[in-house]
Amino acid sequence: MYSGLRLIDKKSMSITESIIEYKDPEIVYIPLVNHSNMECQSLVEIGDKVLKGTVIGKRNDNIEMNIHSSVSGEVIGFEEKLYLSGEYVKCVVIQNDFKEKQAELTGVKDKITSYTKDKFIQILKDCAVTGMGGSDFPTYLKYIGKLKTIIINAVECEPYITSDFLVAILKTEEILEAIDAIMEINEIDEGIIAIRETDYQLKDKFETFLGTYPNIKLVLVKDLYPIGWEKLLIKELLGIKYDKNPMEKGIVVNNISTIFAIYKALKTKRPISRRIVTITGEKIKKPQNVIIKIGTPIVEVIKEIGGYKDETDIRFIAGGPMKGETLPNDNLIVTKNLYAVVAISSSCFSSPITCVRCGRCSNVCPNYLSPVLIRDRKKHFNILKSLHPEKCIECGLCSYICPSKIDVRESVIEAKKEIRRH
Ligand code: SF4
Ligand code: SF4
Repeated sequence: MYSGLRLIDKKSMSITESIIEYKDPEIVYIPLVNHSNMECQSLVEIGDKVLKGTVIGKRNDNIEMNIHSSVSGEVIGFEEKLYLSGEYVKCVVIQNDFKEKQAELTGVKDKITSYTKDKFIQILKDCAVTGMGGSDFPTYLKYIGKLKTIIINAVECEPYITSDFLVAILKTEEILEAIDAIMEINEIDEGIIAIRETDYQLKDKFETFLGTYPNIKLVLVKDLYPIGWEKLLIKELLGIKYDKNPMEKGIVVNNISTIFAIYKALKTKRPISRRIVTITGEKIKKPQNVIIKIGTPIVEVIKEIGGYKDETDIRFIAGGPMKGETLPNDNLIVTKNLYAVVAISSSCFSSPITCVRCGRCSNVCPNYLSPVLIRDRKKHFNILKSLHPEKCIECGLCSYICPSKIDVRESVIEAKKEIRRH
């Protein structure tokens, strides 16, 4: 059975004794983007006054998902800014008045288990809870229908990244309270928190509090990549396969930072306005995790924490080194789904040489694709279609393993786009 590869870890680099909060920026740039909807509709105009939590945009299709302001202040324009996908997207530009005035004053709810399922789904919509592990997928869509198992994905199997670990360590009790409430509201019988077997500190922390929650169990999974991928994780934990979506089998999987966002939504009925981002890599002077306001240009934060060791030869990646996107520069905006940025030396990536037909890229692919064949058949659409590049999860293992240093993943992603265009 496929289980993945053990990769270099490099996580200790960004774990520091305390976590800092970046001072609020003077200007925030809120991308009008949600998941695959790259052109959400703006609901504000230049000169409009907004509060923290004001709805400033929404999706332009039939999925209900709003975009909120993370500060109070005034809309001063619209600008294209770099998003974690590597694309430039339209953003609402807001001048921060630093008053932090809230759009809604709802108070804090003590007992979050008492919501009905309909109300729960409405809160997820109103607070725009989305996948914080990178996807930005609207979370409420995962809770429609009957569910029997919830899996909390705290595996964070990609090297260098520690933002989920930090959330789990710092907010253990809140996370357990949220899982308990989600299970009660949705009549879910089984709750599983999945962590890596080498995350000893996290294991101890959860075990300290789990006694109060008999329906939630902690399961340790092998420290292999990409074990945190939904399909592989469900297979590993439950021995269950699904076709398109875990909901087919009554299973919901949420990343642990998303669970914390659900907790905040249930407690305060407010959208999150900040998130933890891992800023790391050999080129960063002081790698660490930072709490950052949504809409902040990351370059401001990198400067604030000490900057780069040297400014030459940097490969700047949004997300992790395996699944992330290499960006042309560091003018990236912090969004709900930006969990990390990694700055490493470009010289780690030597120039590709000729493919030696070793087949290793096919052997490591978790979705049993043939990356090398997809790369060869890029121009032959019918053959390409039969090789199913659309099933690629962009894990990066094919490029990682390639002895000829070919970026096979990039070719498969291009093929994927080609299939979509037809
Ligand atoms: S083809 Fe896609 S899914 Fe397969 S190893 Fe490469 S990046 Fe991963
Ligand atoms: S791993 Fe690299 S060298 Fe080997 S078949 Fe795949 S692309 Fe060719």
